[in-house]
Amino acid sequence: MAKPKLTLVLAGPRGFCAGVERAIEIVERAIKKFGPPVYVRHEIVHNRFVVEGLEAKGAVFVEDLNEVPENVPVIFSAHGVPKEVPAEAERRNLFYLDATCPLVSKVHREAEQHHRMGRQILLIGHAGHPEVIGTMGQLPEGSILLVEGIAAAERVEVADPENLAFITQTTLSVDDTREMIDVLRRRFPAIHGPNKEDICYATTNRQHAVKVIAPDCDALLVVGAPNSSNSQRLVEVARNHGCPKSLLVQRAAEIDWSELQGIARLGVTAGASAPELLVEQVIAACRARFELTIEEITVTAESVRFKLPRVLQEPSQESSAAV
Ligand code: SF4
Repeated sequence: MAKPKLTLVLAGPRGFCAGVERAIEIVERAIKKFGPPVYVRHEIVHNRFVVEGLEAKGAVFVEDLNEVPENVPVIFSAHGVPKEVPAEAERRNLFYLDATCPLVSKVHREAEQHHRMGRQILLIGHAGHPEVIGTMGQLPEGSILLVEGIAAAERVEVADPENLAFITQTTLSVDDTREMIDVLRRRFPAIHGPNKEDICYATTNRQHAVKVIAPDCDALLVVGAPNSSNSQRLVEVARNHGCPKSLLVQRAAEIDWSELQGIARLGVTAGASAPELLVEQVIAACRARFELTIEEITVTAESVRFKLPRVLQEPSQESSAAV
């Protein structure tokens, strides 16, 4: 029997960002340089496939520094950590490497600068996300107020509207965040903050690509993990921009094919922590069931690379500049 026809619309850019590539490379190089085991505090990036691959190479993932024995290297994840974590590592004389994405560290520095200027800080972000915990933990308790959602932006009470700043999580919805910033600027005209927000280039580009393809797709798959903020936002963005049937899948084996019956065009993208191999497996699974035509729509090219910690650089890399 002839297979039904399906056009797969691949969004570009998709998948790994520079911060995730750097974090994974830090773990891989540390294992090579220092030998296994290398401990990692929290999932290095939010993707089980990546975590299991690194475990197989000799990484041990833990949630707390208490679980890290003496005399082994420990790596902090790409999401960033509260200041007390490196402080505790130093107190215990542990050798640590920080895989915090430089774009998250930039937000930490913004927060510190506002604090030095005596400003109360509003952080737009999702409660409980490790990046939010890390950013709030850069300053003494109470210095940063978390604002989650438009309603919270409308009702947040501040100590002094003339002495106020905002920062944002890097992996939010661009549209929702702009709305929240508009509310804060309306309520507190003197508020300080970045020109737009702190959402990173990778989150912005992946959302833009999804906005472009979503209106022409009957369904859309986001390859990513349920605890990956930027993957969850891609699902929402697709639903809000013309493709209500947008679903998060961790890997091809999870696809509910009954949801995709009768469709002609299927969009595919991947969150910033999802490897391209998982997208390739989705394509292969579609090829097994459909007569496939593939369209790739790339809205922008990315060339961002971040430097590795000096101790892990090859001698030739130490002098080469990177973002
Ligand atoms: S999604 Fe953005 S902030 Fe997060 S690791 Fe990637 S580049 Fe860095």
